Amino acid sequence: MSDERQRSLHQVAVDQFQKAADLIELNDAYREILAQPKNEIIVNFPVHLDDGTAKVFTGYRIQHNNILGPYKGGLRFHPDVDLDEVKALAAWMTFKTALVGIPFGGAKGGVTMAPSAYNECELQRVVRRFTHALGSNIGPDHDIPAPDLGTTSQTMDWVMDTYANISPPGDRQSVKGVVTGKSITCGGSLGRAEATGRGVLYSLRHWCGEVGERLDALKVSIQGFGNVGGHFAELASEAGCEVMAVADHTGTIRADGGLDVVKLRAWVDDTGGVFGFPAADPIDTEELFSEAVDVFVPAALENQLTAQRAGALKCRLVVEAANGPTTATAEKVLAERGIDVVPDILANAGGVIVSYFEWLQNKSGRAWPFADVDDRFRALVWSAHDDVVAARDSLDCSRRDAAYVVALSRLAEAYERRGIFP
Ligand code: GLU
Repeated sequence: MSDERQRSLHQVAVDQFQKAADLIELNDAYREILAQPKNEIIVNFPVHLDDGTAKVFTGYRIQHNNILGPYKGGLRFHPDVDLDEVKALAAWMTFKTALVGIPFGGAKGGVTMAPSAYNECELQRVVRRFTHALGSNIGPDHDIPAPDLGTTSQTMDWVMDTYANISPPGDRQSVKGVVTGKSITCGGSLGRAEATGRGVLYSLRHWCGEVGERLDALKVSIQGFGNVGGHFAELASEAGCEVMAVADHTGTIRADGGLDVVKLRAWVDDTGGVFGFPAADPIDTEELFSEAVDVFVPAALENQLTAQRAGALKCRLVVEAANGPTTATAEKVLAERGIDVVPDILANAGGVIVSYFEWLQNKSGRAWPFADVDDRFRALVWSAHDDVVAARDSLDCSRRDAAYVVALSRLAEAYERRGIFP
């Protein structure tokens, strides 16, 4: 692995916000507060496996900041989950929620494990025991987890059910909002499952309006075909984009004239990955990055877009559907090459926006029709983009710096008004 990918991810997140903090001469105290999480919760908990043994898992919940509202962010189940990664992801949540103007702070959590190595019963026990170990560190007005890589609406239903069962009987209905991204049956919101992918598409639509391009004339390539990349691919192709190439953990494929995304989705549902899709050509992993397209969408893990890959790209725009996909050196290469970047905290905020709507619905006991969710969703994404464009133009900086400027200004204003206790 190259050096640029070995750097602390948390340090990358800190460097990103410090650069923007310089632009607005942010006060040192706020920088220091935001350079580390408020709370780092690490739990080691045993779970019975079906072979009769017990295994101890390590879980995290990092609460980065709550000046603007309850801690908020996903739970990631992946073998690479570690403290440094979760700290970075938690910090990005604080900036993401501040940027899109929803009353939440930032947090992230996870368990270091490969979910695919366990059966459903074992997985359920891991989720329930992890939730129990977190105990009152989460709560509907305190810290609200959601799905992320390796977790689903089923995971959230189990977290909610466990949390409800360890709450006093009279609170068991009112605590449903302890997690978002639940199934509809258990109090989830219409539109939440595909929200991150839809937010990426709305970001692309906004960019088209800004630069005078037609969405239905764009060619895109996507790294990742999971919840985010898969939904984005479907929505983009419905909107008329050509999805030229796609990669996931099983392989990389491309097709002249674009992939049939509906058929690809069915293939992935049946086989577990894009590998072997008959109506496409398999290509080498690195060829994904040199596919001639208008837009490249990293929708997988962090640190995927290295300097070398950024040098190979044949596109005009990168829309960061993943969190932290671009290394700091790749960022410089993209800037030198004039490739525009819609940063992660803006492009992938759709998930947490619809999570906010789910939380509001749980609080009010009312379910919103999809059209209500979608209208409010689009309005929030577009106004965040407008704010970023305005900040970028007035400060003559990158979109990423501008996104942090907008977020930091809101956080700083809250600190100014509230002061520092005592
Ligand atoms: N895991 C998603 C993210 O990274 C969603 C978080 C949420 O809905 O709280 O933004």
